[in-house]
Amino acid sequence: MSKSEQLGQIYENLGISRETLAFGEEIERSLKERFEAIDGTAEYNQLKVIAAMQKNRISDIHFAGTTGYGYNDLGRGALERVYADVFHTEDALVRPQIVCGTHALYTALAGNLRPGDELLSPVGKPYDTLEEVIGIRESNGSLKEYGITYRQADLLEDGGFDYEGIRRAINPRTKLATIQRSKGYASRPTLSVERIGGLISFIKSIKPDVICMVDNCYGEFVEAIEPGDVGADMTVGSLIKNPGGGLAPIGGYIAGTKACVENAAFRLGSPGLGREVGASLGVNQSLFQGLFMAPAVVAGALKGAIFAANVYERLGFPVMPNGQESRHDIIQAVTLKSPEGVAAFCQGIQAAAPVDSFVTPEAWDMPGYDSPVIMAAGAFVQGSSIELSADGPIKEPYNVYFQGGLTWHHAKLGILMSLQKMVDAGLAKIVRR
Ligand SMILES: *Cc1c(COP(=O)(O)O)cnc(C)c1O
Repeated sequence: MSKSEQLGQIYENLGISRETLAFGEEIERSLKERFEAIDGTAEYNQLKVIAAMQKNRISDIHFAGTTGYGYNDLGRGALERVYADVFHTEDALVRPQIVCGTHALYTALAGNLRPGDELLSPVGKPYDTLEEVIGIRESNGSLKEYGITYRQADLLEDGGFDYEGIRRAINPRTKLATIQRSKGYASRPTLSVERIGGLISFIKSIKPDVICMVDNCYGEFVEAIEPGDVGADMTVGSLIKNPGGGLAPIGGYIAGTKACVENAAFRLGSPGLGREVGASLGVNQSLFQGLFMAPAVVAGALKGAIFAANVYERLGFPVMPNGQESRHDIIQAVTLKSPEGVAAFCQGIQAAAPVDSFVTPEAWDMPGYDSPVIMAAGAFVQGSSIELSADGPIKEPYNVYFQGGLTWHHAKLGILMSLQKMVDAGLAKIVRR
């Protein structure tokens, strides 16, 4: 059997028809140059991470866990110095006690804002879960309950910054600006790091002491620069997304100026304790190794996103970003035009997973959502969205959002499987060139 015959056979055994595979391979061949550019960024970022680990003389002593108060946890401090070097910031707080991205963002905000201060979002509505953190939606313990007000300047129709609106929104109480890099599940473009830099310069030209925080979720290692390179005072994210490389079982990070990071540390722990406590238990090695893997993992996820955009675009489904656009995060939206399409897509992603491939995801009424949502995830780490995952709210226009893939080949299988389910259900028709 030839190599390609062998490959076709194993795909077929997994449920991918010869026709679907041939179509996928045709799309893949057309993406050669883009994949090479992604590999180039991954190479640069890989070296950046290795250089930071070498500079900080990482050794197996740093992988040992502590318990209880976690005084003198060598690995914890070393990991934080490595993060600061990778993100080009003065300091960083990287902890398993930060339970998710929302918690990291909350810790950064609550630690640096005081009663009477105002928070500004110059890029429109923030990620859903932050609405409750801020108090845009009433919530127990929100920043609003502590006397911190909020103002927002929406993006312009064309996705540009509303400079006049931002200028009007800034006032003597404006203490902190929160800038979300990824579009998340909104329909606006994701911001490049360069554009974020321009926005930060503009804000600081009006009021130089505004703390500029970037929600970096899903953005890490997509580009060769990070928000700290363009003037962000804090860069914040989740370790079960990009920078954990799929190996971190939990955690979040806040990289930024000494003062901002320290304020966040006192909020995470307690006044008086700050960053001196916090046992790493046994997770240090996974956090180091995950960061080491992250540039390559993000490259695989990015290839998957671009592959999916091109596959579905060719078959006549609207995709966002489109197949040609440059990328600043790893999320891909596909408009499948029907509830059956969303279900078939998610079932394909699930069927391709290494874990729980045998379950069939179905739509359910998730708390906090105004329509049933169908989710596909067969992950090693619960809820990890650097692993191949998809979710689709069952409502017009029937979008599915998907992201991740620890390896490109898994992402490719997942997308081919989603397509196969669509084709089998008569919801998509393969057209070859
Ligand atoms: C995922 C995400 C968050 C929140 O992270 P969780 O880990 O789900 O709490 C915040 N902002 C953006 C842009 C995200 O993608």
